Amino acid sequence: MITIEQLKQSSDLIKKFRPSYQSILDFYTRIFMAQEESREKIQLSSVIIEPDLLKIKQKNELPLIDQSEFLIDLNTAEQLFDTICNLADTFAPNLSSNARMLKDGRHHHTLNLETLFLAILNNQALPLHELSMSLDIPEHELIFFGYTSIAPSIWTCSEQLEAYLTDMPNFKKGYCPVCGNHPDMGFLDKDGNRHLKCCFCAHEWLVKRMGCVFCDNNDKDNLHYFFNEEEKEYRVNLCDNCHKYIKIVDLRQMDRAFYPKLEQIATLHLDMKASEKGYTTTGSLTHDVSL
Ligand SMILES: [Zn+2]
Ligand SMILES: [Zn+2]
Repeated sequence: MITIEQLKQSSDLIKKFRPSYQSILDFYTRIFMAQEESREKIQLSSVIIEPDLLKIKQKNELPLIDQSEFLIDLNTAEQLFDTICNLADTFAPNLSSNARMLKDGRHHHTLNLETLFLAILNNQALPLHELSMSLDIPEHELIFFGYTSIAPSIWTCSEQLEAYLTDMPNFKKGYCPVCGNHPDMGFLDKDGNRHLKCCFCAHEWLVKRMGCVFCDNNDKDNLHYFFNEEEKEYRVNLCDNCHKYIKIVDLRQMDRAFYPKLEQIATLHLDMKASEKGYTTTGSLTHDVSL
């Protein structure tokens, strides 16, 4: 875990190397800082998994919970939502008018945040659609504001659940052992071991060094990667069997503190390049909000 000060330093360093990211990182770094501050205030009881159920999950290599089972600290999430609306209003020109509408909705009690949070957690299309229609705000923006606000609760819950994973050291699957969601990026640690990070709960887990994380393809002829001489810390793994890609950060090549979500935002050009080459990625919740 890195400190807020380190997060800020890493963000400043990236901005220096890649000036085109200035405004997007100005906005996201403030969001990440607000999320980290919010995380410290969270009060949640732990999700309990009964021993019999845990055995079944372990035997069948199933994730510990479904994402709908994460608990949310409603109070803290609502406060963070208001903060994020203010940040978007000030620092994200393309989001600012909708951010003001959301603030209005909060002020006049026409926006029930619990409904939004639960719709995201339960992955329910209908309530999201209805909220989107009634507020006249695109669904992906509602998901952005809502998910960003509940994320610290989800991370906290996920960290508590990690205690149940100590008996499953050989999980090594392409989906999150905590909640079953896909990885949105990976990294190589100082020893060169490959880890993945969950797009939903941010849990990080160890996987095999080689092979496609999505389809288990191990055929070298179908696995490629690309990288850029000027940014040796990033590499994009491509699979010609399932046509998916994943961004990998090589910590051995990086001389700033590693905050995964920051690197993810700072590598949107690699997402574009992979998608131009015809590869797709699996669900990422923050990427599709253009500023
Ligand atoms: Zn997860
Ligand atoms: Zn694959």
